[in-house]
Amino acid sequence: MVGGDAPIVVQSMTNTDTADVEGTVAQVATLAQAGSELVRITVDREDAAKAVPHIRDRLDQMGVDVPLVGDFHYIGHKLLLGHPACAEALAKYRINPGNVGFREKRDRQFTTMIEVALKYDRPVRIGVNWGSLDGDLLVRLMDENAALPMPKTAAQVTQEALVVSAVESAAKAEEIGLGADRIVLSCKVSEVQGLVGVYDELARRCNYALHLGLTEAGMGSKGIVASTAAMAILLQRGIGDTIRVSLTPEPGGDRTEEVIVAQQILQVMGLRSFIPLVTACPGCGRTTSTVFQELAGDIQSFIRTRMPSWRQAYEGVETMSVAVMGCIVNGPGESKHADIGISLPGTGEEPAAPVFIDGQKRMTLRGPQLATEFQAIVEDYVRNRYPSRNNPADHDGAEPTSSAAAQ
Ligand code: SF4
Repeated sequence: MVGGDAPIVVQSMTNTDTADVEGTVAQVATLAQAGSELVRITVDREDAAKAVPHIRDRLDQMGVDVPLVGDFHYIGHKLLLGHPACAEALAKYRINPGNVGFREKRDRQFTTMIEVALKYDRPVRIGVNWGSLDGDLLVRLMDENAALPMPKTAAQVTQEALVVSAVESAAKAEEIGLGADRIVLSCKVSEVQGLVGVYDELARRCNYALHLGLTEAGMGSKGIVASTAAMAILLQRGIGDTIRVSLTPEPGGDRTEEVIVAQQILQVMGLRSFIPLVTACPGCGRTTSTVFQELAGDIQSFIRTRMPSWRQAYEGVETMSVAVMGCIVNGPGESKHADIGISLPGTGEEPAAPVFIDGQKRMTLRGPQLATEFQAIVEDYVRNRYPSRNNPADHDGAEPTSSAAAQ
């Protein structure tokens, strides 16, 4: 379910050759395990289209039920028509109106793809991208603009062309028979203010579900910051039903980073919860040892490692907040705001770390086993605080009883 009051959906896209069934299955499964709720795969040629039903079968055998979205350009009409098993295995088709064909072929080929979607009762994302904008449309709008007494800038006309391409294509899909609730629109650009402007306009002009993403966001912190800046503005305005963070991985890097960043954007904005958030101070001259950084890193890894089991066993555990603080300046206060928090003492002070649970100081940890003991306390807290999915009666609301506690 996408759009309306449904939760905002996290998407990702594989970078494997779809014709490589084993490689694509492995990456889809990894992305799904990381929390991707839709995974897009490119369907660029016959071999890829033939592989799609096998990929779906293998995922089903593994118990991975994440929906697959087929990404089509240039020959999507041929592939969907010529490979019914592919059309059926996919849960959604992405059509780029700029890459459907030229002139009279465009309408015919677009119609074919929508008719396949109707036949298999599949939704369609009409995904416009400024790197592959419909050339004829852009020329038409540029000509119209040039005739105006006060012409807009080329950038403004390009933005208008993105929006018009999406909205006109959606109207055409509806004319062919696709319901408005089966259409998702996206208009991706690679620049923050441009994306905000385009989506503001798109949201003003239509009621279709919208997929957000800054295309070609880039690598590392630049890609994360740019995607977050753009999407946060739009999400805060209530714009966006699904999101993807298009990060370029390092060679051999982890593709799941785009899923984790998308989840974190939604979670830090208070829109959805996926995993307990760890609040940690940046550290300063009051905590010059590495104990604090190690403790914060250890608890973050511990939560990420334990979360797959916790998610299955305990209802609501993803909303837990954990604080790991470096010293007494802000430590106790911040720890009290979290569900469970620990405050180290700072450099040169007595090596004792008070632990706060539900706003109350409950114990003080000391010594080299502090990190392990704190993890045991968190585990204990989860077991006692969140109702069991298997047997709700197991949850008695009792306070954590960790033997690691040492008052
Ligand atoms: S809580 Fe303490 S260690 Fe952390 S940044 Fe603030 S003053 Fe520095």
